[in-house]
Amino acid sequence: MSHAINQTLEGKQVWQRLIEGNMRFAQGFFMGRNLLDLRRSLHRGQKPMAAVLCCSDSRVPAEIIFDQSLGDLFVVRSAGLTLDPTTIGSLEYAVAHLHVPLLVIKGHECCGAVTAAVEHPDLDEGHISAIVRQIAPAANRVRATGKTGRDLVETATIEFIASLQETLRRESSIIDEALARNLLHLVVSKYHMKDGRVEVIASTF
Ligand SMILES: [Zn+2]
Repeated sequence: MSHAINQTLEGKQVWQRLIEGNMRFAQGFFMGRNLLDLRRSLHRGQKPMAAVLCCSDSRVPAEIIFDQSLGDLFVVRSAGLTLDPTTIGSLEYAVAHLHVPLLVIKGHECCGAVTAAVEHPDLDEGHISAIVRQIAPAANRVRATGKTGRDLVETATIEFIASLQETLRRESSIIDEALARNLLHLVVSKYHMKDGRVEVIASTF
Protein backbone atom coordinates (compact mmCIF):
# COMPACT_ATOMS: atom_id res chain seq x y z
CA MET A 1 0.00 0.00 0.00
CA SER A 2 2.74 2.46 0.93
CA HIS A 3 4.44 1.52 -2.33
CA ALA A 4 1.35 2.60 -4.25
CA ILE A 5 1.20 5.92 -2.38
CA ASN A 6 4.86 6.63 -3.16
CA GLN A 7 4.23 5.90 -6.81
CA THR A 8 1.28 8.30 -6.79
CA LEU A 9 3.43 11.11 -5.45
CA GLU A 10 6.11 10.28 -7.93
CA GLY A 11 3.71 10.53 -10.87
CA LYS A 12 2.65 14.01 -9.75
CA GLN A 13 6.25 15.08 -9.23
CA VAL A 14 7.16 13.88 -12.71
CA TRP A 15 4.30 15.88 -14.22
CA GLN A 16 5.48 18.94 -12.29
CA ARG A 17 8.96 18.52 -13.81
CA LEU A 18 7.48 18.22 -17.29
CA ILE A 19 5.36 21.35 -16.81
CA GLU A 20 8.42 23.26 -15.59
CA GLY A 21 10.31 22.07 -18.68
CA ASN A 22 7.42 23.13 -20.91
CA MET A 23 7.44 26.59 -19.34
CA ARG A 24 11.16 26.90 -20.15
CA PHE A 25 10.45 25.79 -23.73
CA ALA A 26 7.50 28.19 -24.09
CA GLN A 27 9.76 31.06 -23.03
CA GLY A 28 12.38 30.00 -25.56
CA PHE A 29 14.92 28.62 -23.06
CA PHE A 30 16.38 25.19 -22.64
CA MET A 31 18.38 23.61 -19.86
CA GLY A 32 21.97 23.04 -20.96
CA ARG A 33 23.28 19.55 -20.31
CA ASN A 34 26.58 17.76 -20.75
CA LEU A 35 25.43 15.18 -23.29
CA LEU A 36 28.76 13.32 -23.32
CA ASP A 37 28.58 12.49 -19.60
CA LEU A 38 24.85 11.83 -19.81
CA ARG A 39 25.23 9.50 -22.79
CA ARG A 40 27.95 7.53 -21.04
CA SER A 41 25.94 7.28 -17.81
CA LEU A 42 23.02 5.78 -19.74
CA HIS A 43 25.15 3.07 -21.28
CA ARG A 44 24.08 0.49 -18.71
CA GLY A 45 20.34 1.07 -19.00
CA GLN A 46 17.41 3.44 -18.98
CA LYS A 47 15.05 4.66 -16.26
CA PRO A 48 12.79 7.17 -18.01
CA MET A 49 10.49 9.16 -15.74
CA ALA A 50 7.47 9.06 -18.06
CA ALA A 51 6.04 7.46 -21.17
CA VAL A 52 4.62 9.85 -23.76
CA LEU A 53 2.26 9.05 -26.62
CA CYS A 54 2.43 11.84 -29.18
CA CYS A 55 2.05 12.61 -32.86
CA SER A 56 4.78 11.99 -35.46
CA ASP A 57 4.39 15.61 -36.63
CA SER A 58 7.90 17.12 -36.88
CA ARG A 59 6.79 20.18 -34.91
CA VAL A 60 5.83 18.35 -31.71
CA PRO A 61 8.75 16.26 -30.33
CA ALA A 62 8.07 15.52 -26.67
CA GLU A 63 11.69 15.81 -25.53
CA ILE A 64 11.99 19.36 -26.87
CA ILE A 65 8.53 20.57 -25.84
CA PHE A 66 9.07 19.37 -22.25
CA ASP A 67 12.77 20.40 -22.32
CA GLN A 68 14.05 16.94 -21.38
CA SER A 69 17.10 15.01 -22.51
CA LEU A 70 18.53 11.57 -23.18
CA GLY A 71 17.01 8.91 -20.96
CA ASP A 72 14.18 11.08 -19.62
CA LEU A 73 11.16 10.10 -21.71
CA PHE A 74 9.98 6.87 -23.33
CA VAL A 75 8.26 8.26 -26.40
CA VAL A 76 5.82 6.44 -28.66
CA ARG A 77 4.90 8.40 -31.77
CA SER A 78 2.33 7.73 -34.47
CA ALA A 79 0.47 10.05 -36.81
CA GLY A 80 -2.53 11.40 -34.90
CA LEU A 81 -1.66 9.28 -31.80
CA THR A 82 -3.40 6.34 -33.45
CA LEU A 83 -3.00 3.04 -31.64
CA ASP A 84 -2.30 -0.50 -32.80
CA PRO A 85 -0.88 -3.59 -31.05
CA THR A 86 2.72 -2.40 -31.46
CA THR A 87 2.18 1.12 -30.13
CA ILE A 88 0.10 -0.20 -27.23
CA GLY A 89 2.77 -2.86 -26.64
CA SER A 90 5.44 -0.15 -26.53
CA LEU A 91 3.49 1.72 -23.86
CA GLU A 92 2.91 -1.52 -21.95
CA TYR A 93 6.67 -2.14 -21.97
CA ALA A 94 7.28 1.27 -20.41
CA VAL A 95 4.69 0.55 -17.70
CA ALA A 96 5.43 -3.11 -16.94
CA HIS A 97 9.22 -3.20 -17.37
CA LEU A 98 10.50 0.37 -17.01
CA HIS A 99 7.91 1.12 -14.28
CA VAL A 100 7.17 4.66 -15.43
CA PRO A 101 4.78 6.30 -12.92
CA LEU A 102 3.29 8.62 -15.55
CA LEU A 103 1.81 8.22 -19.02
CA VAL A 104 1.28 11.44 -20.96
CA ILE A 105 -1.03 11.51 -23.97
CA LYS A 106 -0.01 14.65 -25.86
CA GLY A 107 -2.13 15.71 -28.81
CA HIS A 108 -1.57 18.97 -30.62
CA GLU A 109 -3.10 21.92 -32.42
CA CYS A 110 -3.24 21.84 -36.25
CA CYS A 111 -2.91 18.03 -36.41
CA GLY A 112 -2.81 16.83 -40.04
CA ALA A 113 -4.13 13.38 -39.14
CA VAL A 114 -7.21 14.84 -37.45
CA THR A 115 -7.70 17.29 -40.32
CA ALA A 116 -7.59 14.36 -42.76
CA ALA A 117 -10.15 12.45 -40.66
CA VAL A 118 -12.43 15.50 -40.71
CA GLU A 119 -12.03 16.26 -44.42
CA HIS A 120 -11.61 12.76 -45.87
CA PRO A 121 -13.16 10.24 -43.46
CA ASP A 122 -13.44 7.67 -46.28
CA LEU A 123 -9.86 8.10 -47.52
CA ASP A 124 -8.52 5.08 -49.41
CA GLU A 125 -4.75 5.47 -49.59
CA GLY A 126 -2.50 2.64 -48.46
CA HIS A 127 -2.19 2.27 -44.70
CA ILE A 128 -2.92 5.99 -44.22
CA SER A 129 -6.58 4.93 -44.33
CA ALA A 130 -6.11 3.06 -41.04
CA ILE A 131 -5.05 6.31 -39.33
CA VAL A 132 -8.03 8.23 -40.68
CA ARG A 133 -10.50 5.44 -39.86
CA GLN A 134 -9.40 5.42 -36.23
CA ILE A 135 -9.93 9.17 -35.74
CA ALA A 136 -13.08 9.54 -37.93
CA PRO A 137 -15.66 8.43 -35.29
CA ALA A 138 -14.52 11.19 -32.90
CA ALA A 139 -14.55 13.70 -35.75
CA ASN A 140 -18.07 12.60 -36.74
CA ARG A 141 -19.34 12.97 -33.14
CA VAL A 142 -18.07 16.54 -33.05
CA ARG A 143 -19.41 17.33 -36.54
CA ALA A 144 -22.88 16.23 -35.33
CA THR A 145 -22.80 19.09 -32.80
CA GLY A 146 -22.73 21.58 -35.68
CA LYS A 147 -19.10 22.65 -35.52
CA THR A 148 -17.27 23.41 -38.76
CA GLY A 149 -13.84 24.37 -40.07
CA ARG A 150 -10.94 24.95 -37.65
CA ASP A 151 -13.25 24.72 -34.62
CA LEU A 152 -14.34 21.25 -35.76
CA VAL A 153 -10.74 20.06 -36.19
CA GLU A 154 -9.53 21.35 -32.83
CA THR A 155 -12.57 20.04 -30.94
CA ALA A 156 -12.25 16.68 -32.73
CA THR A 157 -8.61 16.56 -31.61
CA ILE A 158 -9.66 16.92 -27.98
CA GLU A 159 -12.51 14.42 -28.45
CA PHE A 160 -10.12 11.85 -29.92
CA ILE A 161 -7.20 12.22 -27.50
CA ALA A 162 -9.61 12.20 -24.54
CA SER A 163 -11.03 8.90 -25.85
CA LEU A 164 -7.55 7.32 -25.89
CA GLN A 165 -7.56 6.90 -22.13
CA GLU A 166 -10.61 4.65 -22.42
CA THR A 167 -9.14 2.84 -25.43
CA LEU A 168 -5.92 2.08 -23.59
CA ARG A 169 -7.77 0.82 -20.50
CA ARG A 170 -9.98 -1.40 -22.66
CA GLU A 171 -7.21 -2.76 -24.88
CA SER A 172 -4.46 -3.13 -22.28
CA SER A 173 -4.94 -4.99 -19.02
CA ILE A 174 -1.36 -4.01 -18.09
CA ILE A 175 -2.14 -0.28 -18.31
CA ASP A 176 -5.63 -0.68 -16.82
CA GLU A 177 -4.31 -2.56 -13.80
CA ALA A 178 -1.42 -0.13 -13.22
CA LEU A 179 -3.89 2.78 -13.26
CA ALA A 180 -6.31 0.96 -10.95
CA ARG A 181 -3.49 0.28 -8.46
CA ASN A 182 -2.22 3.88 -8.60
CA LEU A 183 1.13 2.62 -9.83
CA LEU A 184 0.53 4.72 -12.94
CA HIS A 185 -1.03 8.11 -13.49
CA LEU A 186 -2.20 9.49 -16.80
CA VAL A 187 -2.41 13.01 -18.21
CA VAL A 188 -4.25 13.85 -21.43
CA SER A 189 -2.88 17.08 -22.86
CA LYS A 190 -2.85 19.27 -25.96
CA TYR A 191 0.10 21.24 -27.25
CA HIS A 192 -0.51 24.73 -28.61
CA MET A 193 1.91 25.72 -31.35
CA LYS A 194 1.71 29.49 -31.11
CA ASP A 195 2.56 29.90 -27.43
CA GLY A 196 4.36 26.58 -26.94
CA ARG A 197 2.23 25.58 -23.95
CA VAL A 198 0.90 22.13 -23.13
CA GLU A 199 -2.70 22.33 -21.85
CA VAL A 200 -4.11 19.65 -19.55
CA ILE A 201 -7.37 18.17 -20.90
CA ALA A 202 -7.80 15.47 -18.23
CA SER A 203 -5.76 13.65 -15.63
CA THR A 204 -6.02 10.91 -13.04
CA PHE A 205 -4.50 13.12 -10.31
ZN1 LIG B 1 -0.54 15.47 -35.57
